[in-house]
Amino acid sequence: CGIVAYIGHREACPIIIKGLKRLEYRGYDSAGVALLNGDLNVYKKKGKVSDLQAFIGDKDTHSHIGMGHTRWATHGEPNDSNAHPHYSSSGRIAIIHNGIIENYASLKTLLQSKGFTFYSDTDTEVFINLIEDIQNENNCTLEEAVRLALHEVVGAYAIVVLSKEEPNQLIAARKGSPLVIGVGKDEFFLASDATPIIEYTNEVVYVNDYEIVVIKDGKLNIKTREDVPTTPYIQTLQI
Ligand code: GLU
Repeated sequence: CGIVAYIGHREACPIIIKGLKRLEYRGYDSAGVALLNGDLNVYKKKGKVSDLQAFIGDKDTHSHIGMGHTRWATHGEPNDSNAHPHYSSSGRIAIIHNGIIENYASLKTLLQSKGFTFYSDTDTEVFINLIEDIQNENNCTLEEAVRLALHEVVGAYAIVVLSKEEPNQLIAARKGSPLVIGVGKDEFFLASDATPIIEYTNEVVYVNDYEIVVIKDGKLNIKTREDVPTTPYIQTLQI
């Protein structure tokens, strides 16, 4: 299982697909991408990254912001609808997630009672609807909603979240599952390890547990779950 995301001046989709292939060694049962270009388009498939590639075929993938996932199923069998990325009920925001949300069942019951609809059997879909619920209740930014959601979920995660309403932005967070940022020139990468990043930049930041990464309008900011800014420690990998 692995995650890759890109924001910058290049086409996102080829970078993400190539990155997912580099993460293939981690093992997975499904793969998918979300691309933001006015619309938020999700393409996902059970099987290999090459199956996803065939499914995408000549669909329009034009985008400079996107994210991709290879899944190792923990909640819900391997199939197309359980593959990531997952949309929220409204289709406004989407998530990729590596890890396990342990309290997903109680959160799901609560969200269903509030009218949220679920299209998969995953714990991950609960996470993105929780973020949407918090955003609706508090009328806040996506960043704030993600931050508040991290106080509600129990378990392990590396996540990336995108919003149709706040383009030019990638939000990521981790606890327990690995997450690395690649810092390029006017472009940023996110991945489970440095292998998808290294051909573009050797400047990386290893995200710590309970940190939230906000890449917006060409700037990288990292904060704690308590909303305190931290100084990114940029390491130069030897290649
Ligand atoms: N728990 C999530 C699922 O089953 C994510 C699994 C993973 O890390 O790939 O969909």
